[in-house]
Amino acid sequence: MLTLSQSAYDSLRQHGEETYPYECCGVLLGLFEEDGTKIVTSVARCGNTREDSPHNRYNIDPRELIRIQREGRERGEDIVGFYHSHPDHPAQWSPTDLAEAHWIGCSYVITSVQKGKAAVTNSFELTGSDEADKKFVSEPTHLTRPWA
Ligand SMILES: [Zn+2]
Repeated sequence: MLTLSQSAYDSLRQHGEETYPYECCGVLLGLFEEDGTKIVTSVARCGNTREDSPHNRYNIDPRELIRIQREGRERGEDIVGFYHSHPDHPAQWSPTDLAEAHWIGCSYVITSVQKGKAAVTNSFELTGSDEADKKFVSEPTHLTRPWA
């Protein structure tokens, strides 16, 4: 399960609207509970470095990812997931999304942006033991109150 605040949820959905008709992408920082629940405590927006096909691909600059990871650790946060948008496509992962996902145990949140408006947001956990048997599993998203 992925737990995030309403403001974090709104922020990643708004990001998809702002970058429409291109994909947005970003990182979810927070902590892993013992039962496997991920709690998002902050959201880091990233630039989409895919210049070849930004409307249906995304890529986070590895240097930007390392910086986000380091700054998160200084605040006691780990990377618990990633998010991106699907302009005018369903909030379902694509074979490319799976091929390019490498953080087993993390959440991959996808927001469908229809005609510039954020529609459905789904989360998938990357499960498995390695690259050969990894797969996405739908997971529930739980929103906490802004003051929680
Ligand atoms: Zn995708």
